[in-house]
Amino acid sequence: MIKNIAILGSSGSIGTQALDVIRQYPQLFKIAVLTVHHNAGLLIKQALEFHPETVVIVNQEKYQEVKDALLHTSIKVLSGEAALVEVVQYPEVDIVLTALVGFSGLQPTIAAIQAKKDIALANKETLVVAGELVTRLAKENGVRILPVDSEHSAIFQCLVGEAHNSVEKLYITASGGPFRGKNSDFLSTVTSKEALKHPNWVMGAKITIDSASLMNKGLEVIEAKWLFDIDISKIDVIVHPQSVVHSIVQFNDGSMKAQMGLPDMKLPIQYALSYPERINSDFPRFDFLNYPQLTFEQPDKNTFRNLALAFMAIETGGNMPCVINAANEVVVAEFLKERIGFLEMSDIIERCMSSISYLNTPTLQDFIETDQETRMLAQRIVTKY
Ligand code: MG
Repeated sequence: MIKNIAILGSSGSIGTQALDVIRQYPQLFKIAVLTVHHNAGLLIKQALEFHPETVVIVNQEKYQEVKDALLHTSIKVLSGEAALVEVVQYPEVDIVLTALVGFSGLQPTIAAIQAKKDIALANKETLVVAGELVTRLAKENGVRILPVDSEHSAIFQCLVGEAHNSVEKLYITASGGPFRGKNSDFLSTVTSKEALKHPNWVMGAKITIDSASLMNKGLEVIEAKWLFDIDISKIDVIVHPQSVVHSIVQFNDGSMKAQMGLPDMKLPIQYALSYPERINSDFPRFDFLNYPQLTFEQPDKNTFRNLALAFMAIETGGNMPCVINAANEVVVAEFLKERIGFLEMSDIIERCMSSISYLNTPTLQDFIETDQETRMLAQRIVTKY
């Protein structure tokens, strides 16, 4: 059976690597839909190679360029944010790979779940913002959420065959990023160029900054809570600079299962698409002699305050994770433009967390409003720096 795939965000790091996987398996996977935000050139190239039924270019100024380039084909071209919500519901789509960045993934993901499409989730912010709502809808609609995030894929793989067994602890591993072991004095002067140099993983700009600030790990803790329906007190973060152990599950008898491998996002992407099967790959294999030591250490939550703030946000619950996510999206964009410093990112996030009105049981509309209010507040604070 061929799986028909919609990729939301096909020009990004996850999207292009997913197409690398899909290219190898035309007998297993077919592209039904591709969407990008503004990269018209790459979308046209991908469309001509993979022949989806529909493509979406979100940025309407680029619509005509894509439309003209695909005029001689039968590929339908759509534009605008609303098109994302429409295409995920198409009857020919079996599985939606959500590789959008940030809050923008929330509404298309919810629409896909309501249309009973399985989700290969690369957009962790969707679960951070509205994990309770999204996982409840998935359950009600009989939809599987298959993690693409490497740590969550690791935990998911460790849990295969363990449905009736009790989990005592999830250990989410963190590389520690480019600034592991550095102190606040050092961090106060780092530039976005330095923060973009991740030691092990090649990823998009937003997640690379999040990795340097440990916000990515904080978001992943929240993502894990919802994906695996587990209390936050049972989730720990452990720094593992080699990024070989992708995460660990400890069961009620004390036994621990870890999933290991070279850091390569193609593996979790392929597993999410082929699940429950494993299919062959020609990815490079791990060589123990290249890694004589695997090391583990505590994360420094005092210096990398974002990790502590993320724990605080999920312990508070309600719309607080939505606040931390929105504030973080703003400060990361501003740090990339070098308008604020590395440590100021946490300061601004913390101020947003203490200022936005708290809602205990937010609806989708509340999330949309909290997101907008927080962005405006964060932006106002940034202008004072
Ligand atoms: Mg990850």
